[in-house]
Amino acid sequence: MTVTERAGAGPSAMQSVDSYLSEVLAAIRPLPPRELGLDEADGAVLAADVTAAWPLPPFDNSAMDGYAVLAADVAAATAERPVMLPVRGEVPAGDTRRHELAPGTALKIMTGALLPRGADAVIPVEWTDGGPAGGRVAIARPAEPGHAIRRAGGDAAVGDLLLSAGTLLGPVQLGLLAAAGHGAVTARPRPRVTLISTGNELAEPGHPVAPGQIWESNSRMLAAAARQAGFQARRHPIVPDDKATVLAALEEALAGADLLVTTGGVSMGGEHDVVKAALADLGTVSFRKVAMQPGMPQGFGVLGSEGKPILTLPGNPVSAYVSFQLFARPAASVFQDRNPQRLASGRATLSGPARSPRGRRSFLRGMLDADAGTVTPVSGQASHQLASLARANALIIVPEPVTELAEGTEVDVLVLP
Ligand code: AMP
Ligand code: MG
Repeated sequence: MTVTERAGAGPSAMQSVDSYLSEVLAAIRPLPPRELGLDEADGAVLAADVTAAWPLPPFDNSAMDGYAVLAADVAAATAERPVMLPVRGEVPAGDTRRHELAPGTALKIMTGALLPRGADAVIPVEWTDGGPAGGRVAIARPAEPGHAIRRAGGDAAVGDLLLSAGTLLGPVQLGLLAAAGHGAVTARPRPRVTLISTGNELAEPGHPVAPGQIWESNSRMLAAAARQAGFQARRHPIVPDDKATVLAALEEALAGADLLVTTGGVSMGGEHDVVKAALADLGTVSFRKVAMQPGMPQGFGVLGSEGKPILTLPGNPVSAYVSFQLFARPAASVFQDRNPQRLASGRATLSGPARSPRGRRSFLRGMLDADAGTVTPVSGQASHQLASLARANALIIVPEPVTELAEGTEVDVLVLP
C-alpha cells in the first residue's frame, strides 16, 4: 500500500530538489583548460584531441626473450633434429646500437630490445637449449617470419587519434599518454573544493571534548566524498560561530578553491546561524528550504570578485552528506565541461515499510541487496545518526506526495559510492 497525500495547504515556500539542483548546476562555469604535466593530470579532462606524434611502439622490437634469426634459417628445425646456429652477441632492452644479423647466425635478444637489422623472427628461449652468446644455440622448432616481433606503429601509427577531447584521464589514459611520449596535456584540472565546518561545539577528533562539545566529522567525510566525486579537496580549520570569523575564513579559502562548501549555521535558529547571517548581508547567496529530508535548509550563491560558487549545507552529518551527494557531486563534472555525474540509480523492492514527511522527497538510508533486488531501510533515520548511514549502501527515494510505503513496493534507489 502506498499512501499519497496531495499537496493541499502544503509547505509552498519550499523549492523542489530538481529545481534547486538545476539552479546550482547552471551557475557552475567550466574551468579554463591549461597545460598539465602528467603528474597533475590524474582526473583531468582533455580539452583537445591527442594524436600519436610517434609510432607506438616506436621501433620494431622483440616480444619475447629468445633469439633473433632469419626464419628461413630455422625452417627445418625439429625436436629430433634441431638447427644449430652460432650466437654472435646479445641485445638487451635499452641497447640503442643497431645490431646486424648475418645469415646463418643468431643473436640473443630480450623482450623490448631493438630488432637487429636482417632478422625477421624471434625464437622464444623455450624452443631452444638456451645456448649462450659466443657459443651455439640448438633450435627445436621453426617460426614464421614476423614471429614474436612487435612492429613499430603496431599499436598506434603516427597521426592516429589516441584520446579525444572530453576524455576523463584515468590510470589507463595516463599510461597511454606516457607511452606515447606526451609529458603534458591541455586539460581541465580537477576542480578544487574547500570544506569549511562551522560551529562552536566542534572539536578536532583525537582531542578530549567537554560536555557540550562534539567531534567534528563533516569536513573529513565530505573531503573524502569530494575526492570520490573528482574534486581536489581541502579542509579548512574549524570555524567558530562568529560572523566576522566566518567571513574571514571564506575570504581566505576563496583564493585556493573553485567551490566552497560550508556545513552548519544555516537553519532557522536566527542569530546562532552565523553562516546564514554573515552571507545574507552580502546579497549574493540565497537561503531556501528545499523539499527534501534530510537536508531541508540550503544556501547557494557566489562569492568574491570572480563569483565563485558556494554551497552552504546544513550541519547535521547525514543532511550534509546527502546534500553533498545530491548537489555538489554532479557539479564536479560540470567544472570540467562534462555532463553532471550523479549517483548511480536503480529500482529495488522494499523489504520493510518506509515513512516520509508529506511534501518532501525523502532519502532514507537503506541496505541494498543488488542480487536479490531488495532494499531494507536501516533503523535510525534521524539526521544526526551517522552510524546508521555507515550501515547503509543506498538511499531509498520516497517521492514528495508519498507518506507511507508498504513492504513489497518497488522504489527508486541511489547507490552510495
Ligand atoms: P547546525 O546546522 O549548525 O544547526 O548544526 C546542526 C547539528 O549538526 C548540530 O547538532 C551540530 O552540532 C551538528 N554539526 C554541525 N556541524 C557539524 C560537523 N562539522 N561535524 C559534526 N556535527 C556537526
Ligand atoms: Mg551550528
